[in-house]
Amino acid sequence: MKNKRTRTRFAPSPTGFVHIGNLRTALYAYLLAKSKNGDFVLRVENTDQKRLVEGSLEKIIGALSWAGINPDEGVYIDKDGSVKEKGELGPYFQSKRLDLYQNHAKKLLDSGHAYHCFCSTERLQELRKNQQKNGQPPMYDKKCLSLSKQEVKQKVDAGEKYVLRMNVPTDKIIKFEDQVYGEISVKSSTIDDQVIIKSDGFPTYHLAVVVDDHHMKISHIVRGEEWLPSTPKHVLLYEFFSWSPPAFVHVPNVLGENKKKLSKRQGDIGVYDFIESGYLPEALVNFISLLGWNPKNGQEHFTLKELEKIFDEKGLHKAGAVFDYKKLGWMNAHYIKQKNDDELLQLCLPFFEKYLAKKNVDHTESLLKKIVNIEKDRIKTINEITQNIDFYFTSPIPEKEMLRWKEMTDQELKRSLLKSEEVISSIEEKQFDIENLHQQLFDAAKDKKGELLWPLRVSLSGQKNSPSPFEIAWAIGKDEALKRIDSALKIING
Ligand code: GLU
Repeated sequence: MKNKRTRTRFAPSPTGFVHIGNLRTALYAYLLAKSKNGDFVLRVENTDQKRLVEGSLEKIIGALSWAGINPDEGVYIDKDGSVKEKGELGPYFQSKRLDLYQNHAKKLLDSGHAYHCFCSTERLQELRKNQQKNGQPPMYDKKCLSLSKQEVKQKVDAGEKYVLRMNVPTDKIIKFEDQVYGEISVKSSTIDDQVIIKSDGFPTYHLAVVVDDHHMKISHIVRGEEWLPSTPKHVLLYEFFSWSPPAFVHVPNVLGENKKKLSKRQGDIGVYDFIESGYLPEALVNFISLLGWNPKNGQEHFTLKELEKIFDEKGLHKAGAVFDYKKLGWMNAHYIKQKNDDELLQLCLPFFEKYLAKKNVDHTESLLKKIVNIEKDRIKTINEITQNIDFYFTSPIPEKEMLRWKEMTDQELKRSLLKSEEVISSIEEKQFDIENLHQQLFDAAKDKKGELLWPLRVSLSGQKNSPSPFEIAWAIGKDEALKRIDSALKIING
């Protein structure tokens, strides 16, 4: 085991929804491989044909690639948008490996580790009902194990429907070491004779996952803790095949703020909800990397490249990690601030376009860029860029009382706005920037900042809370600023 090349995999079932927990599991699997210069494989587990959802594979891979998590091997989306596979150990779609599973099931049949089961659904339901009544765990009672080879053959030849089950010994202790949860030991008597081949000839997850992880030379299985109870079955299968199992790394659930497992019902936890509301991949990756992993040096901000170097699975912990939206917002704001105005404008454009189409207002690219520059420090998600920007495009009609700073009289209010008008008029177009506006207006206000700047700001924005008058005046330009001051003066005059 020790000197084996590190190979991890992410093995999604394309059944619809890309949960934030899936992305986190994929990230950990990817980081574990990268931190040891290994390979990250993407395998598609599509044997449960009934649950497949059209287009969901593209969505899963799309979410991974948005986050920068690209497989070295396995299934990927090519530049032309088509789904392709690469690598020596494929195919990487389970639906293309059915013969392999059949062959392995046959091996288990031959060695007595599996058997045919012909029990009807009705019998199984009845069995379960009785077990429940008697307070016993629902388990298959091995009835078909006593069928002779002859009987089995007759039934099969007669076309009776059957499944193949694992023959789990009744008197064994199954032990394995999980790198997060430690040593786990389970009595085999508590493990059901798991179906490994269904009546449609398809393998169940349990057989397919073991066969594939072995043949794809996976060294570490990284997956959600919900698979921990299935692992003893897998350990048994490894033993039946005389294969040495990979390392198991189960990662804790992502919890909601109520400390319960985060689920679809709890709202915005699909990766696409985050993408669409303007979270940056850098922020989401950084944030989820810390949901269950502790870098042990107190550092909070990591790029994906940094994580690839410093990730250490020893820092994974088993306590469920609470998804803290506030922290994610803070993280996103941090990465937004790091973008330059051009980069940020590109990210904001789709949101601007929607806004502009709805409001049908005139705009220039230079105004949009100025808005981005001003709002950059205020927004937590990119979609917030259009939250309160009407005043940049259309002149507000401020309320008279809002223009007034504290106890100012109408006369003082007028004088204040006239002063602002004078200062703004005196600044040349070429020097009409935030810094100059700030300095000149500050100088003019002397120790009466509120008296000068409040009425000015309200005449420019029409609001109690808005960016500073220097920023707004710079964005809308000198002429428009003067026009707005004029309108405010008219309002005061009544
Ligand atoms: N197909 C399983 C899933 O979607 C993979 C579990 C595993 O990683 O073993 O959750």
